[in-house]
Amino acid sequence: MSQHFLLSAKARTLSVLKVMQMTDTDAFSVFKELRWGEGNEVSCPCCGVIGKHAFRRDRKQWRCKDCGHTFSVTSGTIFANHKLSLKTYLAAIALFSNAVKGISALQLSRDLGTQYKTAFVLAHKIRESLMEQRNVEPLSGEVHMDGAYVNGYIRPQNKKEDRIDRRLAEHQRPDKRCVFVMRQKSTDADMAGAIKTLTFVLKGENQIDVGNLAHAFVKKGSIICADESNAYDALHAKFDTRRVNHSVEYRSNKGVTNNMAESYFSRFRRMQYGQMHKFGNMHLASYANEAAFREDTRRQSNGAIFMEVTKRCAKTRASRVWCGYWQGNKRHEERLAS
Ligand SMILES: [Zn+2]
Repeated sequence: MSQHFLLSAKARTLSVLKVMQMTDTDAFSVFKELRWGEGNEVSCPCCGVIGKHAFRRDRKQWRCKDCGHTFSVTSGTIFANHKLSLKTYLAAIALFSNAVKGISALQLSRDLGTQYKTAFVLAHKIRESLMEQRNVEPLSGEVHMDGAYVNGYIRPQNKKEDRIDRRLAEHQRPDKRCVFVMRQKSTDADMAGAIKTLTFVLKGENQIDVGNLAHAFVKKGSIICADESNAYDALHAKFDTRRVNHSVEYRSNKGVTNNMAESYFSRFRRMQYGQMHKFGNMHLASYANEAAFREDTRRQSNGAIFMEVTKRCAKTRASRVWCGYWQGNKRHEERLAS
């Protein structure tokens, strides 16, 4: 029997140990290369001019030949104005990349020796980069869709006579949300399952939102597979929609399943129960997208995942939400797709 990909040496191209053995100059070169490529094509984050800007070796900063702006390798990225060493950020990305079911801020803070608050913001900056740089091109071919609820749990009262019917609409928690997923099936014989995943946060699994999202993110002529929920009923008019009724079977006699969506939620729930425990609604979209990224990169080596995450961090502008988060600068609006 052939060896599982994740057990092979090909899947293991990075170790946190290797990152920690880097010098500061190595870390600088890695970050520079992932941001601007292998050549000397440094681009000014202020005016965008690419070229040979004057480099001050002692301060590791450039002065733009065009606008005179002074910038560093992290200026204009999610790690701008950084206080930790570059190596610490790379180590954080390595830990983040290796954690296939996500990593909690507390665990990251222990591994890096930083405060919890620092690790929380750092992990969220990485998630923000994954979200900002996600590929939102419409899906095609066979697409599986499903929704799952979070933050809706109602704890039953101690005494039976005090308990309410938790199924009724008026008893639902106002912060209950639906994570909605769409996954495109691979057509490559070597790669079973999904290759591209898009996630959205909704207030509920309903026909209007599902219809709008399918219209915006699924190409015409695609096949949609969904379960028996009436949220998908209206899709039959526009797409070749196939259904499986989960209350009676997981695979219909015609061979229809919704398994790619289910396997996404399998990882998502493990991330929730095992690592995060709670998803704040303000950041739920980022957590959902993180699970999507991890699913889509499941067959890549950890070195490749590390490079991809670092590249996305280097391409993402500093987010206002994550500057001064613990000084009171917080996100005020959820990222709802409704
Ligand atoms: Zn410039």
